[in-house]
Amino acid sequence: MDEALPDAKKAEPNAAGTSARQAVVEAGALYVVGTPIGNLDDFSPRARAVLAAVDRICAEDTRTSGAMLVNFGIRRPMQAVHDHNEDRIAAELVESLCSGMTLALVSDAGMPLISDPGYALVTAARRAGVPVYVVPGPSAVIAALAVSGLPTDRFVFEGFLPPKRGARRERLQALAVEMRTWVCYESAHRIVDTAQDCAEMLVGRRICVARELTKRFEESALMPVETLPTWFAADANRQRGEFVLVVEGAPPQAPVTLDVEKVLAVLGRELPPSTAARLAAELTGLSRRELYARALPPEV
Ligand code: SAM
Repeated sequence: MDEALPDAKKAEPNAAGTSARQAVVEAGALYVVGTPIGNLDDFSPRARAVLAAVDRICAEDTRTSGAMLVNFGIRRPMQAVHDHNEDRIAAELVESLCSGMTLALVSDAGMPLISDPGYALVTAARRAGVPVYVVPGPSAVIAALAVSGLPTDRFVFEGFLPPKRGARRERLQALAVEMRTWVCYESAHRIVDTAQDCAEMLVGRRICVARELTKRFEESALMPVETLPTWFAADANRQRGEFVLVVEGAPPQAPVTLDVEKVLAVLGRELPPSTAARLAAELTGLSRRELYARALPPEV
């Protein structure tokens, strides 16, 4: 970074000639570039310099990214790389990289590859030995976690929960035993239903709802999950915008200890010693042979 910054500062987005551009980026490299999640002031000087310097910008939506880049005076050739064509064109893009072309990858907002396209291109580039550099920027998952007030030392990112109710509730049931803080994205048209499912399936947890982060109506609130549906119902404006949910992990379970003698006695009342020993071995992890010896009636 110490070496990269002075060059990046020198870059003149539009006026940059080939040599000035080459001073900012490495020929034949792929740059994965983060862009703002709402507030354009979060667009870093280095991200702008790199995007102004590459030969081509691969964008999830060339109109969305193009409009933002023009705001910053950045005009570079663009190519659409999205979920529907990425697998097909990744090899072609890697060929361009191998022939010395420098590419940047951006998504509509935040970090590419985080619930956004880019995975096929990055993996194909790595397989071909192409250098891949990151220009990190904001990401809603990290932004929400940081302000949630929930433990951040370990966490799990779930992306989007399944859109259909049955599958979503099944996923929530599986997540109910997760002991780390977990984070998911949700869209405005599903947030109320998801809030209801969370309230029913994650009883006793705290949840942070973070909406419109870095934007004019940014709001985040930490509450018991049971109160989430009421929080949304209290103000229809709260149901608008972009959402991240941050959920408290499950409390640690007290370890279950088995009394071996009791297990053998209970099983032995109903079953022959060999079966009692086999089941006791399964329950306790102890040796079946040893348990069999203990399960036999005492000699008289
Ligand atoms: N690549 C992005 C990132 O790094 O955060 C995420 C892209 S994903 C397609 C879009 C989802 O991210 C939204 O539906 C929302 O759940 C979340 N998101 C993006 N920007 C947000 C913001 N400003 N506030 C809250 N959530 C946001």
